[in-house]
Amino acid sequence: MGSSCRRFHSPRETASQSGLTEGGVALSATGRLGRVDPSCAPLAAGRVVLSLYRSTVLNVSGFPPVARAVRRYGFRLGARRFVAGHDVEEALPALRELEGAGRTVIVDVLGEYVSDVERARAMAVDVAATIDALHAAGIPPVVSLKPTQLALALDTRVASDLAIDLARRAEGHGGRIALDMEDVRYVDGTLDLLRALWDAGLTRSSGVLQAYLHRTPDDLEALLEATPDVSSMELRIVKGAYHESPDVAFHDVPTIRRAYVALAERAWRAGAKVNVATHDDGIITELAAYARGAGLGPERIEFQLLYGMKPKLQADLVQAGHSVRIYVPVGRDWYGYFSRRLAERPANLALVLRGLVR
Ligand SMILES: Cc1cc2nc3c(=O)[nH]c(=O)nc-3n(C[C@H](O)[C@H](O)[C@H](O)COP(=O)(O)OP(=O)(O)OC[C@H]3O[C@@H](n4cnc5c(N)ncnc54)[C@H](O)[C@@H]3O)c2cc1C
Repeated sequence: MGSSCRRFHSPRETASQSGLTEGGVALSATGRLGRVDPSCAPLAAGRVVLSLYRSTVLNVSGFPPVARAVRRYGFRLGARRFVAGHDVEEALPALRELEGAGRTVIVDVLGEYVSDVERARAMAVDVAATIDALHAAGIPPVVSLKPTQLALALDTRVASDLAIDLARRAEGHGGRIALDMEDVRYVDGTLDLLRALWDAGLTRSSGVLQAYLHRTPDDLEALLEATPDVSSMELRIVKGAYHESPDVAFHDVPTIRRAYVALAERAWRAGAKVNVATHDDGIITELAAYARGAGLGPERIEFQLLYGMKPKLQADLVQAGHSVRIYVPVGRDWYGYFSRRLAERPANLALVLRGLVR
């Protein structure tokens, strides 16, 4: 475990039993935290620094001069690692390689926070073309969309009409759409959009729950009530990638991890399919063990990872017989997505900065 720092009440709840560590911090198998050992102070400080780093990167990336500079050089300097191509044609070799390696894909047609409805309609045309191109290439068109790319922030009616059209098109080709979850201002609208898709009979459409939001357990209960058929309900669970206030979101890692595990287990107990979308080895180990113990097969658990991240973990999961889907961003509007990946990991920013001074 690399550190003697313990957070468990009982000697029974050891890190080796739970198999969960992150930076030397152990999370109990029951998900409870114990008394804080004083030797944990450096770890707590490390978490504060990481949280500050994250909010700084997300804040700085919002400044127009920074955005202009990164947009100019960023694709070459680092974004290419996380974005498979400027369009679906450019991304096809990467998509085929993933499929050849036993993974499936979900394509994110990049775009978010459009400033007018016409832009949203143009985005929807791009997404429709991507769905058709995937189908023509023999790849099931499973696509992930950001509701604000369909004008959710401007006109909810337009957003739901566009989402329904795209979901029909994808399902018509044997695929489906997933609605990404964005910042907390759009959670209600996004959940309404998902319900509108289900009401239109597009029950393969899936949504995302963010473990860091205080409200999420209630949102899960509401979705379980709303679904016309829980056995066809599919939900992606993530930690959450946006800069949210402590009034609405947890900021400490152990609490978010506990919330994550609890959401997945609740969704499974209710009969839903869970997309375990994380690169966190601890969560993956714990949920894989839970699924095994509960006899849940690939129809109920799918691991999802982001393109360019942890290829060895991706391969290990496939090797262990799990269903693994890679979220592959495609498009020119990569700036917001790339900023969130930089914010998650200081080493990514260091890579970009090294490229700049080389
Ligand atoms: C398939 C998928 C879909 C997602 N969809 C959404 C969504 O709709 N809405 C939303 O808010 N968030 C979404 N996210 C992002 C998510 O909320 C987290 O911000 C992100 O996954 C990082 O948290 P983590 O759980 O992977 O673990 P972390 O604890 O952040 O990381 C665990 C380990 O993964 C590796 N890692 C993590 N991030 C990076 C990185 N940027 N670069 C390199 N290595 C890294 C590191 O080795 C790290 O130690 C999605 C994530 C995935 C995997």
